[in-house]
Amino acid sequence: MMSKTLKTDPSCMDDFDPNSLTVEQARKRIHESITAIDGFESVAIRRALGRTLATAILSPINVPSHTNSAMDGYAVNSRELPATGQHTLSVCGTALAGHPLAFEVKAGQCARIMTGAMLPPGTDTIIMQEHVERDGDVIRIDNRSKPGQHVRQLGEDLSTGQTVLEAGRCITPADLGLLASLGIAEVQVRRKLRVAFFSTGDELRSIGQALETGQIYDSNRYTLYGALTALGVDILDMGVIPDDREKIEQAFHHAAENADAMITTGGVSVGEADFVKETLDKLGQVGFWKISMKPGRPLSFGKVGKANFFGLPGNPVSAMVTFYQIVQPALNQMMGKNDIEPVSIQARCVSALKKSAGRVEYQRGIMETDEQGQMVVHSTGHQGSHILRSMSLANCFIVLDLESAGAEAGEMVTIQPFYGLF
Ligand code: AMP
Ligand code: MG
Repeated sequence: MMSKTLKTDPSCMDDFDPNSLTVEQARKRIHESITAIDGFESVAIRRALGRTLATAILSPINVPSHTNSAMDGYAVNSRELPATGQHTLSVCGTALAGHPLAFEVKAGQCARIMTGAMLPPGTDTIIMQEHVERDGDVIRIDNRSKPGQHVRQLGEDLSTGQTVLEAGRCITPADLGLLASLGIAEVQVRRKLRVAFFSTGDELRSIGQALETGQIYDSNRYTLYGALTALGVDILDMGVIPDDREKIEQAFHHAAENADAMITTGGVSVGEADFVKETLDKLGQVGFWKISMKPGRPLSFGKVGKANFFGLPGNPVSAMVTFYQIVQPALNQMMGKNDIEPVSIQARCVSALKKSAGRVEYQRGIMETDEQGQMVVHSTGHQGSHILRSMSLANCFIVLDLESAGAEAGEMVTIQPFYGLF
């Protein structure tokens, strides 16, 4: 169970608030109070893409399973290689991939061989065909070749019993091929994480409903839907819950009973905090935190029943930034993934960036390579936390440290690309 010390009170809003948690502190507290979900399932490897491996994969075979040629050429015994001048050998047969030569290559002989074909008995070296003069069944070789060259040795990639993939690995397309190359049909993965989410706010309407004065469409449920789907979790979209004590309470109960984690947006800023706080206090163990980050400072985290609860701010950009910076690493941990650090790189910032010290800022940027092949980034423009278009235009976060006072045009900055290679 979580201790009550997780709780801090929401209070004043200045940038140097000593009661604020840094992003690292918030991540650490969350990291220490959650564990990976139980429950494994066996799936065919194609269905394992993006899933978390539950147990390590050990190679059942040697790879390559036989010593074979890396080139089209001639298989010879290295004793036949001349130290100087030239030497002739007679071609005694041909080895093709999948069609090995059954007999031994004797002294004074060689075998024609193709890439991937097993080395015939009596040979240990491949001479590439471009280095050979052929005349009928006789080849002439010179002293350019080295013993053992162009040979893929049995087990040089993997030996039987060697760990191929660690538990906690998120399966990539390359891994599927690797598993197939080992003849592995099924793997044990963790069951899918179930995540429930809903939006709170009397002003929110769903697509298809008419907007009355002062009302807006709920967008957070759609960005969360996208982010969670991309993460590969099972989702339970509970819609919009009005700012009504009883309905919120019911929604929390329902989410806690049906999901491993729940995410809400809205209702945790100072104006509404007391109300939601009261409900959460009654139902679970939840802390309300101010985090020294912009956007996305108010955040609540804790447990409702057995589910981990993440209360995100309502502003659309704040909700996304806190999701990616705080919630996604936690969900990855719950999914049992072992490699969950986002990649950061340096880029030259071509825009001047304004910032006040005391909070980490996750500004929205567009990164690209310039004509010299250097990584550059520019701002998406106005950085208001309600301007969702800034996230849509962006392909990276520009991460400005706690102490940073912004950046001059031309300065190097840290960026976090939105898209990994896989
Ligand atoms: P709150 O955190 O509830 O005070 O909301 C902060 C701001 O975000 C207000 O302008 C809300 O109208 C807006 N907001 C809250 N939830 C959503 C949502 N689901 N979709 C779009 N805007 C929202
Ligand atoms: Mg609200």
